[in-house]
Amino acid sequence: MEGPAANAQNVNYMWPDKKRPRVCIVGGGFGGLYTALRLESLVWPDDKKPQVVLIDQSERFVFKPLLYELLSGEVEAWEIAPQFSDLLSNTDVRFFKDRVKCLYPCYHLGTNAPTAGTVQLESGLLIEYDWLVLAIVAEAKLDIVPGAADYALPFYTLEDAHRVDKKLRKLERKNFGKDAAIRVAVVGCGYGGVELAATISERLQEKGIVQAINVEKTILSNAPAGNRDAALKVLSSRKVQLVLGYFVLRITKGVESQTSDAESKTMDPAADHSESIILELQPAERGLQGQIIRADIVLWTIGSKPLLPELEPSDKPYDIPLNARGQAETDETLRVKGHPRIFAVGDSSTLRDKNGKLLPATAQVAFQQADFAGWSLWAAINDRPLLPFRYQNLGEMMTLGRYDAAVSPSFTDGLTLEGLLVILQEKWPI
Ligand SMILES: Cc1cc2nc3c(=O)[nH]c(=O)nc-3n(C[C@H](O)[C@H](O)[C@H](O)COP(=O)(O)OP(=O)(O)OC[C@H]3O[C@@H](n4cnc5c(N)ncnc54)[C@H](O)[C@@H]3O)c2cc1C
Repeated sequence: MEGPAANAQNVNYMWPDKKRPRVCIVGGGFGGLYTALRLESLVWPDDKKPQVVLIDQSERFVFKPLLYELLSGEVEAWEIAPQFSDLLSNTDVRFFKDRVKCLYPCYHLGTNAPTAGTVQLESGLLIEYDWLVLAIVAEAKLDIVPGAADYALPFYTLEDAHRVDKKLRKLERKNFGKDAAIRVAVVGCGYGGVELAATISERLQEKGIVQAINVEKTILSNAPAGNRDAALKVLSSRKVQLVLGYFVLRITKGVESQTSDAESKTMDPAADHSESIILELQPAERGLQGQIIRADIVLWTIGSKPLLPELEPSDKPYDIPLNARGQAETDETLRVKGHPRIFAVGDSSTLRDKNGKLLPATAQVAFQQADFAGWSLWAAINDRPLLPFRYQNLGEMMTLGRYDAAVSPSFTDGLTLEGLLVILQEKWPI
């Protein structure tokens, strides 16, 4: 099969111009949106300016690094998740709110083929393209341990952030005026887990107990030492309990009594029992005892479920070369290996730097690749040679609640700026 099966529900998208190149970008995050904007900003010969379609399952672009600020109350959703229709209003980019269902690359039919492939959307729309940019991303993976999908909340998307905020508000209301603290368990101590633990402990203060669990014996194991030390200082000052060297074996729900046995005899037995989530922890090394943690809310920040394997047609799986994490393998020009008409950027692609180290799944990488993919498309469409992508690591930054942050810039080894944000106001003579 070379394309999607003929079906009454499938409708072909009619590109406005029959001659100009057709670029289809799937995923409107840092990778996809910025590729589209880059293509718009370049200068094209008249007949070469590509027609660009951008597809995203959501109607909003989400600036994920600022999702924590929704929990600390520093921003409103519209500030970090503007609508694509607004962002693209002054451009010729056509936006479709839809979910990509299947990809049918058919470039192997030869350069004279009328199309390089087709993208099938969940609505049934079929979009033929000359050039495809893959920029969709993995989803939270909660089926790693039993019970996580039922009782833990991921923190990857705008909807996730709203759900966590709503749950925290509910617990804050329930505990208002009571002595009981809200128990928060954060699973994973990479940047995501650490920033969440710092933000939530600051929000709840003495009304909360935050525990952060990590399988390694340290937090932020891949981060610059300065960022790790800054985070440890802040977490300790906010009394976040670090449970290091343990992995979560199982998550279940339990009921616990909030009163002593003596008290409960005099009360309605059903009235003072509350539900809690129970995390069974197993030590990563021998010689340690297992642990049980009870929590009111569990936040899951580890693992991700790749989406690209799901988009391959069943009669042609493995057509797109994917690594074990389901990311498309690209060459240095960001074209998917064996598919010269497909570029992949951001978290959905995998590439190594000049030292052989895999590029991290960060907004910084996605943004730089988007800029580069725009140039590469310009070069490819104008029959110019494509250049190799070189990642410029600018450094690593994290926010630790409203007032604390740390930055380790890459231009000098061992330097970390950390601490309180102080706004200096210049005083002008009156
Ligand atoms: C909470 C959080 C904090 C972060 N903080 C930082 C940080 O401080 N610094 C940093 O550099 N990085 C950070 N990251 C990582 C960074 O956000 C990602 O690396 C970056 O967003 C990757 O860009 P992308 O374009 O590949 O994917 P995304 O920006 O995630 O965009 C992918 C898009 O694809 C869409 N999509 C997915 N599936 C489909 C489908 N089937 N059909 C249509 N559309 C689909 C999604 O709706 C989404 O808009 C953070 C991530 C999270 C979750």
